[in-house]
Amino acid sequence: TNDQLAAWDRENFFHPSTHLAQHARGETPSRIITGASGVHIEDRDGRKLLDAFAGLYCVNAGYGRREITDAIAAQAAELAYYHSYVGHGTETSITLAKMVMDRAPDHMSKVYFGLGGSDANETNVKLVWYYNNILGRPAKKKIISRWRGYHGSGLMTGSLTGLELFHKKFDLPLANVLHTTAPDYFRRAELSLSEAEFTAQCAADLEALIAREGADTIAAFIAEPLLGTGGIVPPPAGYWEAIQPILEKHDILLIADEVVTGFGRLGTMFGSEHYGLKPDLITIAKGLTSAYAPLSGSIVSERMWKVLEEGTDEFGPFGHGWTYSAHPIGAAAGVANLALIDRLGLVGNAEKVGAHLLAGLRDALGAHAHVGDVRGEGMLAAVEFVKDRETRAFFDPSEKVGARIAAELAGLGVIARAMPQGDILGFAPPLCLSAVEADEVVDKTAQAVLNVLG
Ligand code: PLP
Repeated sequence: TNDQLAAWDRENFFHPSTHLAQHARGETPSRIITGASGVHIEDRDGRKLLDAFAGLYCVNAGYGRREITDAIAAQAAELAYYHSYVGHGTETSITLAKMVMDRAPDHMSKVYFGLGGSDANETNVKLVWYYNNILGRPAKKKIISRWRGYHGSGLMTGSLTGLELFHKKFDLPLANVLHTTAPDYFRRAELSLSEAEFTAQCAADLEALIAREGADTIAAFIAEPLLGTGGIVPPPAGYWEAIQPILEKHDILLIADEVVTGFGRLGTMFGSEHYGLKPDLITIAKGLTSAYAPLSGSIVSERMWKVLEEGTDEFGPFGHGWTYSAHPIGAAAGVANLALIDRLGLVGNAEKVGAHLLAGLRDALGAHAHVGDVRGEGMLAAVEFVKDRETRAFFDPSEKVGARIAAELAGLGVIARAMPQGDILGFAPPLCLSAVEADEVVDKTAQAVLNVLG
């Protein structure tokens, strides 16, 4: 029964990213999910909900895809596991590597497979350090991230993540990690700044940090093309055009964390394409398999690859690997998923229906007295609530406005995410969302806002 499961859950299950005491008291909205199809999930009470956050913005292809589940079943029956150490591979993992590299920007060279976004970013930091050690510059090790960036929950990646919750009481960030200004124009400190002035300020802040620390101590800059968990915030106009030359000038590598933006989310195969980035490393996970099985990757540029390859000739084998690197079941999910994304034209659909969703949210809520910002890109959107539009005063966090609206919306049958950084409702539906489903999301969101805020 549901009651029995809820009791077992409280007794045994340590949930990630959860207020443990509230969960123990039964105050969290626990929901037992039993099935899913398309953009809908179904819970144990038989309620069907439109999942406008694609799980954790990962089910890009949509739920219940037989092409992917059949591929997983066939792989499990044929060869559930073999490792990829010392040059071993499987037909599926080699095929997936080829498919990823066929889609990656031209200057990229190889893909290293991991399990999830966090371990892929841990790999990236080690690659950057290894690269600089091989080049004989052991002091060039610091990594710059942005406040409100999200890069994972490991020791290093939790440090890179620019959210206080991921640092406090964990003794993080680790040494060698620095944070710079979040490129969030809506939340700029000085309201009088124009967007162009704010972009210039972000660039100047980065320059100042590099000057303070010394460029010869800074190895890499890690960033999501578009801030995701930090509030779904497209960068201010001209941001990447201003940031990239600074990195190039100081010989600082760029790690594009595309865990969310990879594989179509922004209406392009990669976010790097969308914003004209030329990264040295690209982190992929989530959309790589549409989360049908865990798999991530670090895509390495040709210029880094050459150094890594030569380094192993001098120093011996590359000493970094996971038992489950390139796991055949994840790889099978990846191959079927990437083929399906192409066959269904989901990247183009993300651009088209994403624009429709954003326009709908703007029409329905843009003028609301407590809506400060409606923003998005591709199949990503956010609505940010404020107490006062004129002064941009925020609600007191104790009022939990964002969480209350998300709960109200779930009651109406649509899941959006109350983003952790303020009263922000985030949308990241599967890329197969139809225009009619987008309209449902908009209508029910407007209703939920009306119910909570009037
Ligand atoms: N990087 C980004 C941009 C993410 O959004 C996430 C997760 O949401 C991660 C890294 C970490 O991925 P994982 O949770 O698979 O470790």
